[in-house]
Amino acid sequence: MNLFAALPVAFVRGEGAWLWDTQGKKYLDALAGIAVCGLGHAHPAITAALCDQAGKLLHTSNWYQIPLQEQLAERICKLADMDNAFFCNSGAEANEAAIKLARLHGHQRGILTPGIIVTEGSFHGRTLATLSASGNRKIQSGFEPLVQGFYRVPYNDLDAIRQVGEHNKDVVAVLVEPITGEGGISIPDAGYLKGLRQICDERGWLLMLDEIQTGMCRTGKWFACQHEDVVPDVMTLAKGLGNGVPIGACLARGKAAQVFKPGSHGSTFSGNPLVCRVALTVIDELEKGKLAQRAAKLGARLLAKLKEALGQVAGVKDIRGRGLMLAVELDRPCKELLQLALDRGLLINVTAENVIRLLPPLIMTDDEADIVVRELASAVRAFVEQATTGAKEQLSPVGGRA
Ligand SMILES: *Cc1c(COP(=O)(O)O)cnc(C)c1O
Repeated sequence: MNLFAALPVAFVRGEGAWLWDTQGKKYLDALAGIAVCGLGHAHPAITAALCDQAGKLLHTSNWYQIPLQEQLAERICKLADMDNAFFCNSGAEANEAAIKLARLHGHQRGILTPGIIVTEGSFHGRTLATLSASGNRKIQSGFEPLVQGFYRVPYNDLDAIRQVGEHNKDVVAVLVEPITGEGGISIPDAGYLKGLRQICDERGWLLMLDEIQTGMCRTGKWFACQHEDVVPDVMTLAKGLGNGVPIGACLARGKAAQVFKPGSHGSTFSGNPLVCRVALTVIDELEKGKLAQRAAKLGARLLAKLKEALGQVAGVKDIRGRGLMLAVELDRPCKELLQLALDRGLLINVTAENVIRLLPPLIMTDDEADIVVRELASAVRAFVEQATTGAKEQLSPVGGRA
């Protein structure tokens, strides 16, 4: 179906932070498949685990015990300080599970129309419930009627959340991204997550953090909430968890971990031996390579160099980031930059119309990061110049082009 406006390039091979297209041209990947391939492409340990597991057992179904799934649950829960896990096949499914968990929790406490507080500019997925939860009219438009039961507040605004709580006794949970991804890399004020934790504790709500993009070492900690020492009641993961095999997870803690009972929720593919084996290997490699620390260090370097190279360029409004989740915000829509970067052998992303988003693999070297900065700066300059020349041409009288 005609759903993705794909760029005119096809990749056939990858290695580390590099990809090769059908013509043999080489590209430096500063997007990592949208924060998926944290370990880069064709990582030998991942390839070996995949091949070995594929030769043993792919799938049995959750009618039987799956030791690799139990191991993965144990490992990931230990890292996130959570109690149990439901595995699924995507981020949207992980959030779908979280939303169902929150509603069931409400019903178990006698609330017939449980509500969930969500934020403007958020992205939680493309299923009906998750697009309804998302704060983005574009992805909702045409799919009404939306799923009900969401209260929307501005991002980074604790008072707005308190106010919703004052006026609505059916609220059961808050669902928030620690840093927005698709919404344009908004980094909330220090203390936002702690404030959320406090409000949820006071009111008996579940704090549900969507760490699908921010999790798995991306921001310089295993999970972004750890920057504020906050532990949520529910955490959702996907993207970097499988380095490219489809896996998501909904983790729960304390009372939230007791909500689902056999039959409450499920999925055929969920947590099969193949994906769990790969996710276990991903965790092994993230640990071995100390890649959370690496993401923090390389992220700081990239941020400083981006500011140096682009801070004074006309049209650049802001440069921000945490770990390897970085943004260069322009004062105008800049989708054309994707092609300009591609021409320079660089893969980037533009989100929220005017935000250049960088999500490089965590294994990227300093030298590679310097190439990212150099080529991105060149592309941005070309883009801004193009725009100014274009504007001048439009302004000049007919035939008046000097
Ligand atoms: C990507 C993303 C999702 C959706 O994940 P899918 O695997 O595309 O369904 C949800 N929340 C956040 C924060 C994301 O970045």
